[in-house]
Amino acid sequence: FVVFDHVQKSYDGETLVVKDLNLSIGKGEFLTMLGPSGSGKTTCLMMLAGFETATHGEIKLNGRPINQVPPHKRGIGMVFQNYALFPHMSVGENLSFPLEVRGTGKSEREAKIKRALDMVQMGAFANRRPAQLSGGQQQRIALARALVFDPELVLMDEPLGALDKQLREHMQFEIKHLHESLGLTVVYVTHDQGEALTMSDRVAVFNDGRIQQLDAPDELYERPKNSFVAQFIGENN
Ligand code: ATP
Repeated sequence: FVVFDHVQKSYDGETLVVKDLNLSIGKGEFLTMLGPSGSGKTTCLMMLAGFETATHGEIKLNGRPINQVPPHKRGIGMVFQNYALFPHMSVGENLSFPLEVRGTGKSEREAKIKRALDMVQMGAFANRRPAQLSGGQQQRIALARALVFDPELVLMDEPLGALDKQLREHMQFEIKHLHESLGLTVVYVTHDQGEALTMSDRVAVFNDGRIQQLDAPDELYERPKNSFVAQFIGENN
């Protein structure tokens, strides 16, 4: 469904921050990119989202090179750590925006907004401004906004990083539930081993621009392929 084929990325023309990445992500899969800060995870997500282009190699979505598909036709929803909700718009307007970009008519927009807000139990908050919501509520709205146009693929970059532990665990459960009930393909970026191991079908452990190991959580935990993976997975567990 998503294929990274010998992908390399350099921002300055010299240093490779992603080095020969090969990865196939299946439809409906929950794949987590796990690794320390600076290992290239976000760069991979940015290339998939179309905000950055690969220096070498190719990324394919549904068999088509990603740069041949206009961003609003890729069916990709995105959620980031800092929510990136528009502060001057109400919650409803924040959700309406991605639909307007796609040319969805008013009555269909209203139905989709209601459904997306209900999915994250925020149906009563459509008229609030982001500043009038708690961090956890804002993150739910960011999730609803990523889901409002029925994406096939959702990219999440440290979406729960700003939340306290209890809320983070609750949201992990909710994201997992949405992934399963909507049949979404999710590419999730985190540096939290616990989060990666609990939520994912497979985890790609990154270090220094390369995938060190790509496996199911229990396999990673029980049979790390090298000392980096063993140490990184072992921390905080
Ligand atoms: P983090 O968890 O801190 O976000 P990461 O694993 O997601 O880390 P990236 O953000 O992909 O890592 O960064 C990989 C490397 O690329 C880092 O050395 C970073 O400084 C560099 N980098 C990232 N974005 C840019 C940019 N826009 N311009 C130049 N260098 C960048």
